[in-house]
Amino acid sequence: MSRINTDFAGLVLFRRPYREHDLLVKFLTRDYGPAMFFIRGGQRKGSKLAPAILPFCYGTYVGWLAPGELSYLVAAKEVHQLKHIAPDLEANAYATYLLDLVGQAFDEGQGIGAWYDQVLAALLLIEDGKDPQVITNVLEVQLLGRFGVAPLWDGCVICGRSDRLLDYSEAFGGVLCSDHWDRDEHRLHLSSKVVSYLRLFAHLNLAKVDQVTVDPATRRGLRRALDQIYNDQVGLRLKSKHFLDSLASWDDQLTLPKRERPKED
Ligand SMILES: [Zn+2]
Repeated sequence: MSRINTDFAGLVLFRRPYREHDLLVKFLTRDYGPAMFFIRGGQRKGSKLAPAILPFCYGTYVGWLAPGELSYLVAAKEVHQLKHIAPDLEANAYATYLLDLVGQAFDEGQGIGAWYDQVLAALLLIEDGKDPQVITNVLEVQLLGRFGVAPLWDGCVICGRSDRLLDYSEAFGGVLCSDHWDRDEHRLHLSSKVVSYLRLFAHLNLAKVDQVTVDPATRRGLRRALDQIYNDQVGLRLKSKHFLDSLASWDDQLTLPKRERPKED
C-alpha cells in the first residue's frame, strides 16, 4: 500500500524513544490496524504533537499512513487522554498488557472496525474505575480467535448440550459437558461460574457494559483459566504480562489475610 494522507481514528499503543529527540509511536487505527509512526522531535519540549501522543491518548489524527513502513503524524484533530489510567499502578499494568496483546493480534494495513470500538470501550471502562482484570479477561477471551485458537463455547464439543455442567478442554478446543468429562482428564477443572463467565465474555459487547462485579474466587479462577489457555495454546510471552504477574504476586503477599487455625478443643 502506498502512503496516503488521511484523517484517521486511532489510539496510542506504545511509545519508544528514537535517536536523541525523536519518537516512534505505535497506534491502533480503526481503518488500517496497527501502524508505527515516526515523530520527529517528539521528545523535544514544545513539540506541538507531544500532548496528543501521550500514553492512553485516542482520537482523530491526520497523518501519512504507510502500513508496513513508517507512517508520519501530521496533526492531532480531536484527542482525549484517559487520565486516570496512567497513575493507577494496577489499571496501568492491565491496560498496558491489553494494548500489547491487541498490537500483536492484528495485521498492519487492515481495517479492524468493531474491534477498535471494543478496545476503546475496554479502556474507557478501565478509565472509569471498573475492574481492569475482568475487562482484560473479556478481551483475552475474544482475541483468542485472532491468535488461531477459536474455542467452542456454546455447547459441549461432542454432543452440543449446554444444560449440564461444562468444563473447558484444551485438547478438544472448547467446552465438554459432564457426560463427556471422561474424554479429557486434563480438562481445566474450572468452576461452573468461571465457565459461565468465559462463555458470556465470548460474545460480550463492552460498549453496553456499565457494571463489572465478579466475586474474588471467580476472578482468580478466570485469571488462572486464561493464563493457562494463553500459555498452552497461544504461547505469547509479553513483557507487560510478566510485569502484571509480578505485580499480582506482590499484591497477594501484601493483602492475603493471615490464616487462622481452627480452634481445637
Ligand atoms: Zn457432551
